[in-house]
Amino acid sequence: MVVLKTRKEIEKMREAGRISAGALKAAGAAVEPGISTYEIDEIARKYILRQGARPNFLHYNGFPATACISINDEVIHGIPSRKRILREGDIVSIDLGAVLDGYHGDNAATFACGDISAEAQRLIDTTRESLYVGLSKAVAGGRLGDIGSAIGSYCEERGYGVVRDFTGHGVGRNLHEDPAVPNYGTPGHGVRLLPGMTLAIEPMITMGTHKVRILSDGWTTVTLDGKPAAHFEHTIAIVGDTCEILTLAD
Ligand code: MG
Repeated sequence: MVVLKTRKEIEKMREAGRISAGALKAAGAAVEPGISTYEIDEIARKYILRQGARPNFLHYNGFPATACISINDEVIHGIPSRKRILREGDIVSIDLGAVLDGYHGDNAATFACGDISAEAQRLIDTTRESLYVGLSKAVAGGRLGDIGSAIGSYCEERGYGVVRDFTGHGVGRNLHEDPAVPNYGTPGHGVRLLPGMTLAIEPMITMGTHKVRILSDGWTTVTLDGKPAAHFEHTIAIVGDTCEILTLAD
């Protein structure tokens, strides 16, 4: 069931989103050769707590950290570790959120560690651009398939893979709500988009195959062919003929 939010609820989500975005920005700024993913996670955790919020991924279905930190061929759900040290040329996807006063924010971005290859930069740029292409379709009166189709075709036309086994989602009083928001679809099909819908839209895009597998830790999701992946996400609210991004840092 899709839960529509009131204006007041959207303002609460904007506050949770602001903290989520600030934590992502702080974590991303720490990406450099030699730092561990554990240290980055600590930066995010402390930022969220200082703002009076709570990390909403921590202990979610047993996830042990504040942020999912996924490097190179890791698409999503990488577990931060003291032993995982970033190296020059890595691309680092960080996904995290905060809950404040019962409302959730959720956002992600892929960061370059030092100098990265031109191909990796193009993957990052295309994934970020595809998120905004998708957001342009998140308008009342549209359909869910308009968003997915816009994201998916933008990336596939540029030769990239679009992960299908994981999707974006509704978000609000819960981190994950209906509807699922796939990064593929058919224009004019799917759930009708209404004012008050709050969605986490999150393209997960690969340099090769779209197929993924989950490692034996039960979380880390990697590309089947070992090629790199990128991930960008915003929490948004549909408010008439536009959407408002709720995960914006100060
Ligand atoms: Mg999400």
